[in-house]
Amino acid sequence: MVKIPKEQNRYCPSCDTYTEQTVKEVTNRSGSPWSKKSRKRQRKIDNGYGSFPFENPANRSRGGSNPTSSKKDLQFTCTECGKAWKPKNTLKAAKFEIER
Ligand SMILES: [Zn+2]
Repeated sequence: MVKIPKEQNRYCPSCDTYTEQTVKEVTNRSGSPWSKKSRKRQRKIDNGYGSFPFENPANRSRGGSNPTSSKKDLQFTCTECGKAWKPKNTLKAAKFEIER
């Protein structure tokens, strides 16, 4: 379990200094259903390709490690300028929580 504080003193790219920022997890943001990636996925689901799609991560690998952790989509909002930004290197964890 990874817990991170909701308010952090971080570097702001637009202010160019360290400011107080709030963390928000951006979830359930599905992409456009008409993008090339999602059309390709839908075509694979309709026509079938091996055991695709892999819904259960335990059935995913063939002799490899089973990925249970995932990269978290975090968004930092600066309280000084009010601008939001995303870090390049995001956190990777199986269980994740933002503390208040
Ligand atoms: Zn700022």
